[in-house]
Amino acid sequence: MTNRTVVIPDIGDVSDARVLEVCVREGDRIALDDTLVILETDKATLDIPSPVSGVVISIGIRAGDAGSPGTVLAVIEPDDAAQDLRSIIPLSSLPAADQVPNQTSASASAFDLAVIGAGPGGYSAAFRAADLGLKVMLIERHEALGGVCLNVGCIPSKALLHVAAVREEAERLASLGVTFSSPMVDLERLRSFRSGVVGRLTSGLASMARTRRVEVIRGVARFSSANRLEVAERSGETRTIAFAHAVIATGSAPVRLPFLPDDPRIVTSTGALALPFIPTRMLVIGGGVIGLEMATIYSSLGARVDLVEVGEGLLAGVDRDLVRIWMKRNAHRFDRILTRTAVSAATATSEGVRVVFDRQDVEAGLYDLVLQAAGRRADTGPLNIAALGLNPRQDGTLETDLSMRTAARHVFAVGDVTGAPMLAHRAVHQGHVAAETIAGLKAGFDASVIPSVAYTDPEIAWVGVTESAPAFSETTHTVARFPWAASGRAIANGADYGLTKLIFERTSGRIVGGAIIGPSAGDMIGEICLAIEMGADAVDIGRTIHPHPTLGETIGLAAEISLGVCTDMPPA
Ligand code: FAD
Repeated sequence: MTNRTVVIPDIGDVSDARVLEVCVREGDRIALDDTLVILETDKATLDIPSPVSGVVISIGIRAGDAGSPGTVLAVIEPDDAAQDLRSIIPLSSLPAADQVPNQTSASASAFDLAVIGAGPGGYSAAFRAADLGLKVMLIERHEALGGVCLNVGCIPSKALLHVAAVREEAERLASLGVTFSSPMVDLERLRSFRSGVVGRLTSGLASMARTRRVEVIRGVARFSSANRLEVAERSGETRTIAFAHAVIATGSAPVRLPFLPDDPRIVTSTGALALPFIPTRMLVIGGGVIGLEMATIYSSLGARVDLVEVGEGLLAGVDRDLVRIWMKRNAHRFDRILTRTAVSAATATSEGVRVVFDRQDVEAGLYDLVLQAAGRRADTGPLNIAALGLNPRQDGTLETDLSMRTAARHVFAVGDVTGAPMLAHRAVHQGHVAAETIAGLKAGFDASVIPSVAYTDPEIAWVGVTESAPAFSETTHTVARFPWAASGRAIANGADYGLTKLIFERTSGRIVGGAIIGPSAGDMIGEICLAIEMGADAVDIGRTIHPHPTLGETIGLAAEISLGVCTDMPPA
């Protein structure tokens, strides 16, 4: 077994480092990834981890010493070769030894960090790493930064959902004695409103990248070796980037149903958000959040919508009592909601797209627009991750440990490419964890909960344990419900149908989950997330004074119900 000499790695343009602390002594046993030495550069403090488990044979430096790339830190006798890369990642997915960057060499690298993909995961990793003093390159194949979220996801959909909500709220005012004339939709102006919102955010990102001195290049990245990327730039040139660390943040792409014909009237969410026209009859395939948000937008613009969902019901994972309220409030949008039904064939005709379903009792439909919203799949497409010795899982996602490190230990993955839940706020937090780990800070993605929101009308937001989750049991959990019919603000706002639900663990009394349906549910769920993360119980929440009259007050009132002290409801 050959001993491993550990040297100061090449960390970009940093030439001098000072040894802050030597964390081992000669003769000590050290585990893989345990900190060997802590270095300080003019940009950051860096932990130098042990690349192997073994025994420290000799130490080449002392605290206070200066060093530069190549300076010997220590020599370690490894336990055995198989341990070199042992971590929580299965050995089966590890790269071949010759594909792992050799920390003992001082090979040249132009960037401390190359981030591939400028969505929420990628730009957050790049910006955080730059703030921590690293030299960062951000590579994006599209001209605009921001990824799916800013360009064709969260933001444009919310811009259009805002318009839908205002329009429908105006209609509801008729029953309160205020009427407007029938709305006229100017599609061109609506598109430019959507594009304006997106453009403001994406140009803001580009300027924040400049301020942080993050170098951005536009092109498709591909790994050519464990430490090099080739970028086919949009300008037509190919550029080679050498990097010490990389973050893969290439996101996800919509699942395309193979039996649907190639026809401009059959679109994914990206095509639907482009607002090509207002269809008379639309079919939405998929009863998840994206499908329902799009159905809300198009129905408020005047389309009649059919929705088909192969599962038992809409919004899998959301408690059925909330879904029932949603269905009642949204029945007017749909001609048909077909659950436990699949599309079996579709034909493009001159009159429309004719869609056949797999149930004898369900008639075929003819549609002007068909939206496929049947899920998203991690996208590592042209990246050539085989050059890193990495294999994606069967569903295309990349496996990481809690630091977002892949089996190629200098390469990290964040966001949708790491799997469900595919949400922007998860991607952002993971991006920060990856950047901090690379900069030598101790960081881990150990969030207890990640909230989900359907920004429909009404909104539904849920987090942690729900009544429909396998983790829920009546013997181990209690549920407190506050119906908004008892909230003054909800009644005043015409939202007395809403509901706030909290779920507590019986033994500890701690809150472990919650769900809200009603206007602004998505804005309010953060309080429940914080309560869960802080280990709060019903007393903490119920005794926190919430402003009156607000919809947020319903969270405090639900906690009071759990304690049996709510005076806004009849006695228990
Ligand atoms: P992405 O945002 O997908 O970004 C990946 C980037 O990598 C892309 O810009 C891509 O061009 C680039 N890229 C890929 N491969 C390469 C390569 N080889 N070279 C260079 N660049 C490459 N989430 C929410 O939290 N809230 C919402 O309200 C919400 N609404 C949504 C609505 C819709 C219609 C959709 C489709 C999604 C929505 N999402 C929402 C999900 C959210 O958009 C994603 O979870 C989020 O964008 C994931 O961020 P990411 O950084 O992992 O990847």
